[in-house]
Amino acid sequence: MRRLILSLTVLLCCSGVAAAQMKFPQGGTKSVATSVEKPMPKPVKKKKTPPPPKSPPAKELFGSVTESAPIAARAIGSYSKGCLAGGMSLPIDGPDWQVMRLSRNRNWGSPQLVQFLERLSSDARALDGWPGLLVGDMSQPRGGPMLTGHTSHQVGLDADIWLTPMPDRTLTPEEREDISAVTMLKDPLTVDPNVFTDLHVKLIRRAASYPQVARIFVHPAIKKSLCQRADKFGKDQSWLAKVRPWWNHHYHFHIRLACPDGMAGCVNQNPVTGDLGCGKELDNWYDMLKKSAIWTAQQEFDPDAKPAPKKNPLRLTDLPGDCKTVLTSGGYEPLTADAELPPEAIAAMETKEAGPSVPRLDEAQLQTLLNGGKLSMPIPDRNPIR
Ligand SMILES: [Zn+2]
Repeated sequence: MRRLILSLTVLLCCSGVAAAQMKFPQGGTKSVATSVEKPMPKPVKKKKTPPPPKSPPAKELFGSVTESAPIAARAIGSYSKGCLAGGMSLPIDGPDWQVMRLSRNRNWGSPQLVQFLERLSSDARALDGWPGLLVGDMSQPRGGPMLTGHTSHQVGLDADIWLTPMPDRTLTPEEREDISAVTMLKDPLTVDPNVFTDLHVKLIRRAASYPQVARIFVHPAIKKSLCQRADKFGKDQSWLAKVRPWWNHHYHFHIRLACPDGMAGCVNQNPVTGDLGCGKELDNWYDMLKKSAIWTAQQEFDPDAKPAPKKNPLRLTDLPGDCKTVLTSGGYEPLTADAELPPEAIAAMETKEAGPSVPRLDEAQLQTLLNGGKLSMPIPDRNPIR
């Protein structure tokens, strides 16, 4: 036994030495007795010349501009990677609409979007009895990424409309900053039928009925309610195909116009198919919605919960080349890397959210979902919402 231990020790020592043999570029090897020799002095690091200052992220560049680009109107690029030339502002008061959160200066769009909202607000009032639109975010004066709130809305073809009806008086500027839209949900998975009324269904149906509308986004629970109630609103349910579930649209809905005909450089999404989206697609959304609700509720009880990682912001070079022309047109000098954001951009960032966050599961609801919920996929360790 002793002999075995001895030979093992020798073997280990030798392999240790072997491990300490270092290869040198000249060829041969040299034995390094690490415990005896002094460590090599560290090479002195050369001072690097600082890299040239980077341009600020595109959201800071476009979020600092207060006037539209004085060139021919054009939606450039795609909804989530683009900009807007020749943007028009929607007047803050119209016969059937009022613009909310004026300090954001996001009531800009393509002329087609502005005309569309004027038409929709008038039709919805005359034909459906909707008292008027409260208009949320459209685009910034020159479109592009925003400092807060949206991935899309970059090309002047998207608009958020509150699901809160317009009051029959002109709101003060302060009220337009402070009033909160009302959620249509009673819990993360279900619409409150006392809040989400037939009038809301008619408004969304009206918005989806125009040929220039490519998609309408609503919270999955609203989509479910529309699927269940569509029968009441006529035989033709094809409008439902354009109404797509998306996260967070529970106190507003989102109208997305298709690229106007023949507009060069405007990138459409694939058009919707004839599928009304009330079957398998909605089931899949409910699966994701449940997982997200469980994840959110569990995070609330978990003190070590990590926030979701941040994405790298878009740069001007990520956008279509023409967006540089849009940014600098009219002699505008874009924000430089070392400049502070202008006060207008800071004010826009600091405005109040337009509505409440999605309701959370209470503990009883969470337990029911965990015990009885049949989830076809495992719950991820990160919120699928993000
Ligand atoms: Zn939206």
